[in-house]
Amino acid sequence: MAFNIVFFGPPAAGKGTQAKIIEEKYGYVQLSTGDMLRTQAAAGTDLGVMARDIMNQGKLVPDEVVIGMIEHCMDNLEQPAGYIFDGFPRTVAQAEALDAMLAKRGQKIDLVMELKVDEDQLIKRVEKRAKEEGRLDDNIEAMKTRFAQYRDYAAKVLPYYRAQGDVPAVDGMRPIDEVTMQIEAVLGVNQAA
Ligand code: AMP
Repeated sequence: MAFNIVFFGPPAAGKGTQAKIIEEKYGYVQLSTGDMLRTQAAAGTDLGVMARDIMNQGKLVPDEVVIGMIEHCMDNLEQPAGYIFDGFPRTVAQAEALDAMLAKRGQKIDLVMELKVDEDQLIKRVEKRAKEEGRLDDNIEAMKTRFAQYRDYAAKVLPYYRAQGDVPAVDGMRPIDEVTMQIEAVLGVNQAA
């Protein structure tokens, strides 16, 4: 029986890194809408060109676009041990659509995990690196905008999931292997390793 997970967390929390580790170790498939949109943008498809403008402005791509991409993947992939949704859903409409898509397949979201980071500390890291490299860093403003956008949608999507059950949190500020161990503990796998 498939076990489907949502990795929920702000930019730079390591969602993608951790999703790839769990994917490799346990046969999950990571579905990252950010990666899919970047692939489309790099390929210069109509969808990609439209998405690039929106992404550059730090806005959300329309729900129907990301929902369509996720559905397309689920229709065309062989059923894995479970999906890890990374960067999706970002709106309640997306969360509802995801529930419906899974229900059609006799599945559901089995676990939502929140990766937590200290925003100030992450911004300081980027600032420090910029100073050391002797450059001004536009990334800092972009990062602040992305954190603000995250807070905004997290305030809507997390309550949607909390109404359905526990949303365990993992400390994303720890080294990568320690974060993986925390995730494995929540999943109840590989705890002796
Ligand atoms: P990410 O790599 O997940 O941070 O996504 C990069 C950008 O892609 C975001 O800032 C959005 O513009 C867009 N994007 C990714 N996933 C979604 C989503 N689920 N809903 C709307 N826009 C998205």
